[in-house]
Amino acid sequence: MLNAVTKKSIAYWDDADDLRWAVRHWASKINVNLAEIHLRLMTQKWASISTRGRLTLNTELLEVPRHLGEYVIVHELVHLLVPNHGKVFKSFMSAYMPDWEVCDDALKDYVAIAR
Ligand SMILES: [Zn+2]
Repeated sequence: MLNAVTKKSIAYWDDADDLRWAVRHWASKINVNLAEIHLRLMTQKWASISTRGRLTLNTELLEVPRHLGEYVIVHELVHLLVPNHGKVFKSFMSAYMPDWEVCDDALKDYVAIAR
């Protein structure tokens, strides 16, 4: 469990608008068209995206550190460029978020602690 000092040094989301703003920011940075952003409680995953650009984010992301949430956002948005998790997907991820593999691991740990 995180102590108060550690927790204070990690940036968290302010609110749902903060999360939505980050999605818009990354969509323009990656240059993909996002049709809709939805937030709802999801039990099995952090997020999903349709080929038409309908992004759904788990409201539980509001409870995880900001950077890990951004990793989830970038991951979903890169799926608009590459549908699978192959070599091309990984090179896009490395280009936009060099520490994405660390984030992926950290997010798993977070889930393990949180549930
Ligand atoms: Zn994926």
